[in-house]
Amino acid sequence: MKEWPYRLLAPGPVQLPPEVKSILARDMIHHRTPEFSRVLVKVLANLKKVFATTQDVIMHASTGSGAMESAVVNCFSPGDEVLVIVSGKFGSRWAEMCEGYGLKVSKLEVPWGHAVDPRAVEKALKNPNIMGVFCQACETSTAVLHPIKEIADQVKDRPQTLMLVDAITAIGSTPLPMDSWHLDVVVAGSQKAFMLPTGLGFIALSQKAWTFYEQAKLPKFYFDAKAELQANRKGDTHFSSTVPLTLALDWVLEKWIKDGLDTSIRRCETLARSLGAAMDVLGLQPFSKAPSPSVTAIVVPPEVDGSRWRDLLESKYNLTVMGGQDQLKGKILRVGHLGYITDEDQIGAVEALGLSLKELSIQIALKQIERATAAAAQVLAEKS
Ligand SMILES: *Cc1c(COP(=O)(O)O)cnc(C)c1O
Repeated sequence: MKEWPYRLLAPGPVQLPPEVKSILARDMIHHRTPEFSRVLVKVLANLKKVFATTQDVIMHASTGSGAMESAVVNCFSPGDEVLVIVSGKFGSRWAEMCEGYGLKVSKLEVPWGHAVDPRAVEKALKNPNIMGVFCQACETSTAVLHPIKEIADQVKDRPQTLMLVDAITAIGSTPLPMDSWHLDVVVAGSQKAFMLPTGLGFIALSQKAWTFYEQAKLPKFYFDAKAELQANRKGDTHFSSTVPLTLALDWVLEKWIKDGLDTSIRRCETLARSLGAAMDVLGLQPFSKAPSPSVTAIVVPPEVDGSRWRDLLESKYNLTVMGGQDQLKGKILRVGHLGYITDEDQIGAVEALGLSLKELSIQIALKQIERATAAAAQVLAEKS
């Protein structure tokens, strides 16, 4: 019987490049050393290039949600009115966080699987008191890419309103230039396109957002952006640095800059197109009406039990993909295009998807699975 190597094709956490694994295995060094300080300064400078901003990018030792929380506490005061676009699980999270901190939240609910209509945002912004618009760039739970630039265009001329973007599965996988798109707060996390383990949250604030910081009265301590920035200016972090993650991040950022900042974005796009080509052959439908290059959501065919499909992929084919969350439980399968994914991984995953479906008694011929892997491989071969 064929041996299936372990493959992790989730929209975070992701597979790590061999170089990252070896950096993470090195002897520990102290963070208050000139050696580490040099790397930290370089990493912070390189992050600005990746965010396409002249502003400082701050790192928190936290998951991505920590960076989302940092955005809230650094910019607002209790009772401030904000608009949260809710099109899936992560939109709900930001709404809950804002409510938890006592902000007055208007939710713009979008049917799951759809991108928000910028005209709906325009309508909601007729309310002059809205001080922040919160949106995911990619709503990972539904594999939807939102029209961030179009939304930001409506916010940029309102001095009283910030545009806050959860770019946790967008930075490194889809273009999101912070300054030229007039984004005020951009947050990201290490375990997605950055190809690292979980543990670093990133946040950048525009000049406008820093003026909000000066007014913001929500309590903060660990996530205080200014305190972090002041430490960074001295080549230090506010609290103990995540040394191994920062050293590994340095390798990733240097590689991205050397290869060209769009290389990682193009790879995600290629992987998404490659899976799409295979899905066409297998007769599988995408769930998202505005597909993101970070993750593909596959509609589970009606005759298949979604959780059985996922279990079979895991137990027999050694492949981890994600199911749906909340209202999409059992209805979709989410395959990630982030992290270190080789062509063999991608083709192996397509083959496993086809074989597992056949086993779940879907009418699929072996020849069709061969054609699906060939279609996926052909897209990968076109890449350069
Ligand atoms: C993964 C993810 C998060 C949350 O990340 P944690 O690291 O689990 O806190 C938030 N938003 C989006 C869009 C994500 O994909």
